[in-house]
Amino acid sequence: MEVIPISHSADVVTPQAAAGGATLESVLLTLAYLVASVLFILSLRGLSSQETARRGNLYGVIGMAIAIVATMANSAVDAYVIIGAAIIVGAVIGALMALRVAMTAMPELVALLHCFVGLAAVLVGFAHYLGEAQAHPGNTVLLIEIFVDVFIGALTFTGSIIAFLKLKGSMSGTPLLLPGRHVLNLVMVASSVALAIPFASAAGDAGLVWLLIMTAVSCVLGVHLVMAIGGADMPVVVSMLNSYSGWTAAAAGFMLENDLLIVTGALVGSSGAILSYIMCKAMNRSIWNVIFGGFGTGDTTPSTAGPRPEPGQLDVNEIDVPGLADMLMGAKSVIIVPGYGMAVARAQHAVRSACDKLRDAGVDVRFGIHPVAGRLPGHMNVLLAEAAVPYDIVEEMDELNGDFPRTTVALVIGANDIVNPGAQTDTSSPIFGMPVLEAWKADHCVILKRSRRAGYAGVDNPLFYNNNTQMLFGDAKDSMDAVVAAL
Ligand code: NDP
Repeated sequence: MEVIPISHSADVVTPQAAAGGATLESVLLTLAYLVASVLFILSLRGLSSQETARRGNLYGVIGMAIAIVATMANSAVDAYVIIGAAIIVGAVIGALMALRVAMTAMPELVALLHCFVGLAAVLVGFAHYLGEAQAHPGNTVLLIEIFVDVFIGALTFTGSIIAFLKLKGSMSGTPLLLPGRHVLNLVMVASSVALAIPFASAAGDAGLVWLLIMTAVSCVLGVHLVMAIGGADMPVVVSMLNSYSGWTAAAAGFMLENDLLIVTGALVGSSGAILSYIMCKAMNRSIWNVIFGGFGTGDTTPSTAGPRPEPGQLDVNEIDVPGLADMLMGAKSVIIVPGYGMAVARAQHAVRSACDKLRDAGVDVRFGIHPVAGRLPGHMNVLLAEAAVPYDIVEEMDELNGDFPRTTVALVIGANDIVNPGAQTDTSSPIFGMPVLEAWKADHCVILKRSRRAGYAGVDNPLFYNNNTQMLFGDAKDSMDAVVAAL
């Protein structure tokens, strides 16, 4: 496998380049990569809000198309048939996967894609060692770049496979907590670093054996790190692996002297890290727990483990569909708080219909979105956008949390942890400290769910028992369809 450095912007900016030494081709290539990099930045910016998300996606697609065409046009690239075939096969598989995947299965698809990034980095690293590094012996910087690229790539590869298997349910979500696991991780990282010395000083391709040993150690490290994390907390880990895959790409960019790969890798690496940080903050977890493993091993139990009293024998206030329809129609303002249950029930279209009817009747309706509602970042925003809920009435938690005391009805649809007042008052709660939507401060709080069962964090919710809380038991879609009919 021959790997060709495909960008040499250094050629362009060196004094020789300034004196006219750069070829027209290298200038055009650098220019194309610059445009693609800017488009990727605009893409990320666009994706940060739902109004601009489509445009952001389009920028990303155009940027990637420019990058591919520019790379293919490089005179150093001649394997058009192989590359063309790979692009067609990849595009077909990618399109089929994207069309078929259920929104709730998105984290496992992303984990699978990260595993390909890691594997590609490892393969390119080995190919580069056997090709370029042998052609330029004694280039220590190149050898270190290869070493770093393969290390992060192997870790990302195996870590992502484990994350995928756990999310898919093919592997138990129970965390593997070996005694002294942190020391074990440290030993594996230290020995990988130490292996760089014989690797970089070996003559010819004799360093291959050290590279192989380090790859094996890094693969085990990736498995061990992710095995130590509870299956239910995997989405945050996937976001972290996303970040690792970005840094892998950046390392590959240095190795291949490809500026675009460096920029793109750094963008993915930093945005993945920021997203993980935001998720951890919203869940009141420490990001270091995610990086070093052992995350999700605390008191969280699966939601099915909670007590499951049947509706009817509860000490909660219930409401029926006509009662709820009357309450909503008579309200001045309503804040709808959607959660994971709305996604499971696919109730977003019924919710939109109810929202339209209420707005037509002059009720002020808004949606309150918690940063970790559902099971992946932006989960609720995607579902509401799919149901064509107007963006201007969808607000983030921080924007509208202070408005609950001035709200007639807080309508909680399939949400639980994100409206749990215990997060503010119960120091023993596993979600203590997690910011929550203060739905209990509205005049009336109505909760739509199937039972009194706990949510993701496995903790009971005192909100169910408040005097001003009423519960409408049943599947969220069935309940909302009935409410729409009654409205
Ligand atoms: P929760 O998991 O806390 O609660 C969801 C509730 O939906 C359940 O209690 C369930 O109750 C109900 N439900 C399930 N199916 C249906 C249905 N068909 N109809 C009606 N109700 C249904 O979800 P939240 O959105 O409130 O909170 C998200 C949780 O996920 C947080 O703890 C967060 O930390 C965590 N998390 C979020 C991530 C993210 O990126 N968004 C990533 C990782 C974790 P019942 O069974 O009684 O119906």
